[in-house]
Amino acid sequence: MSIAANGQEADDITRNLAHTSEQIAQLAQEYQRDAGSVRLLAVSKTKPVSALVAAYEAGQRAFGENYVQEAVEKRQALAHLADIEWHFIGPIQSNKSRLIAENMDWVHSVDREKIARRLSEQRPDDLPPLNVCIQVNISGEDSKAGVTLEQLDDMVTLIVSLPNLRLRGLMAIPAPQDSHESQCAVYQPLAQAFAALASNDHHVDTLSIGMSGDLPAAIASGSTMVRVGTAIFGARDYSLKQ
Ligand SMILES: *Cc1c(COP(=O)(O)O)cnc(C)c1O
Repeated sequence: MSIAANGQEADDITRNLAHTSEQIAQLAQEYQRDAGSVRLLAVSKTKPVSALVAAYEAGQRAFGENYVQEAVEKRQALAHLADIEWHFIGPIQSNKSRLIAENMDWVHSVDREKIARRLSEQRPDDLPPLNVCIQVNISGEDSKAGVTLEQLDDMVTLIVSLPNLRLRGLMAIPAPQDSHESQCAVYQPLAQAFAALASNDHHVDTLSIGMSGDLPAAIASGSTMVRVGTAIFGARDYSLKQ
């Protein structure tokens, strides 16, 4: 795995990042959000370390990964870039929770009590609390990942009681919709749950919604962190994995 960014790849990523940031700023303005209220998480799963370096050199600091082993390898390869913020956004198997607790700064995909407890127990004492979003299932997506809105209160109560986790907010991956209106409609109950949680004194500040295909609906619905892969790094080639 090459660590240096290579020319054409780096140029494309730099241009795509600038374009995506501009798009986010324009959408924030269009939907009367404060400038800077929507952070960009660059989703680098399946992409080589050189792609992350190119994005880093273009100013990007927050990266999202879905596969534990890949995330840990990238973090080790880029240990010299100490101000990278590592976000885990994929499904969590309980036998991988320790690697996540030891290596990541954020986890967006906490949706089971057992996983929450393990992450808190396994978080090393010399690291700050792990930043956590609860994944919510808002559209009955096939993956079945995420708590239902009915289960959300119990999960919030648990996570705020765990010493080495810091609850930051909610995350969702809705099933694809065919219009902006239906995308917004699916986000609506989640946005309400987030507003209720934010007014509840838990100091949550993160609504992690929005991907390359639904940025306008996510930002209209109150997203504070969009997770963008394809629009920055190009299409993913899964044949390279396993
Ligand atoms: C892959 C992935 C993304 C990025 O998706 P793009 O469509 O490539 O922008 C965002 N969130 C999660 C949870 C993902 O798995």
